[in-house]
Amino acid sequence: MEKNSLQKLKNWFLSEQRPLPWREDRSPYRVWVSEVMLQQTQVAVVIPYFERWMKKFPTLESLAAASPEEVIKAWEGLGYYSRARNLHKAAQRIVEHKKGIIPSTLSELEELPGFGPYTVGAVLSFAFQKKVPAVDGNVVRVLSRFFTSSHDCSKRAHYEELTLSCLRDEEPWVLMEALIELGAQVCQKKPKCGQCPLMEECKAYIQGRVLDFPIPRKRPSTIQLKRHVALILAGDHILIKQEKGRKVMSGLYEFPYAPLEESLPFQISLHKLDVFPLVKHGFTRYDVTLFPTLYKTEKKERVVGYEWCPVQHLEGLPFSSGHRRIVAHLLEHVDAYLTH
Ligand code: SF4
Repeated sequence: MEKNSLQKLKNWFLSEQRPLPWREDRSPYRVWVSEVMLQQTQVAVVIPYFERWMKKFPTLESLAAASPEEVIKAWEGLGYYSRARNLHKAAQRIVEHKKGIIPSTLSELEELPGFGPYTVGAVLSFAFQKKVPAVDGNVVRVLSRFFTSSHDCSKRAHYEELTLSCLRDEEPWVLMEALIELGAQVCQKKPKCGQCPLMEECKAYIQGRVLDFPIPRKRPSTIQLKRHVALILAGDHILIKQEKGRKVMSGLYEFPYAPLEESLPFQISLHKLDVFPLVKHGFTRYDVTLFPTLYKTEKKERVVGYEWCPVQHLEGLPFSSGHRRIVAHLLEHVDAYLTH
């Protein structure tokens, strides 16, 4: 990108950037948390989460000392919970092995859980003011259009190289953030080229091909899942399970469920009380439809891997996103069915 374009981009950024809470104080911890929250999540959604998080865990040490459940609870609703678990693990590792100081080198950051290429780049650029690329979807949109790049949007090395060629030795982090901000505010999916400081030099604009870029990556098709979800009451308790291990849902609670055509993974005698509305949600490559049914059983039989929880405690527990919507419906309607 020519000097002239870079100057226009910088000027635009300095006057148009949004005032965001993590821009007020660029400590490595705040930059890191905000960048992890912003992955796959809109800025407007992240702001209240970020502010609550910083009140609850104002320092890296306070995050490291928290329980996994507190961390998941503070993240509840943001989705992709492995991001929260990795933040927590990385904070503990930094306290244990780095004297509580977030490292400022690529090789050290890369070793920490959850530090993918974008997060490493963002922390090095915005917190440590280094000349490194931080390539996210915004940057790919801007650069693929500006240069009419024939590389599809998954070609990270290519876009890192292009980004690096745009950064200058003096204040490289300003241009880095300006590219991201331009993608977020102007060069959006439907770009507002009339407001863009790069319009006169942008090849895609000049050629009238802005919507041809970035070239999409071929995606694997989504998998449809249909699940029967059993809400099993025994008096004022309900049967739930906490997912363990390394699965996407690890640490989150769920009700017992099974594929629609199969029976539950345990046998207890059930009496059907009601059928709740379907819940549709998606995660990673899956489109899931949940079919919740409310049952009662006479006593709290022991079911291996599950626990009986007082219904009124459900609200305080972290649930996976589909099951959380079932909790909301249940809590609204359950009084009629409770027997104390
Ligand atoms: S001119 Fe349009 S397509 Fe080109 S960078 Fe600006 S907003 Fe994006």
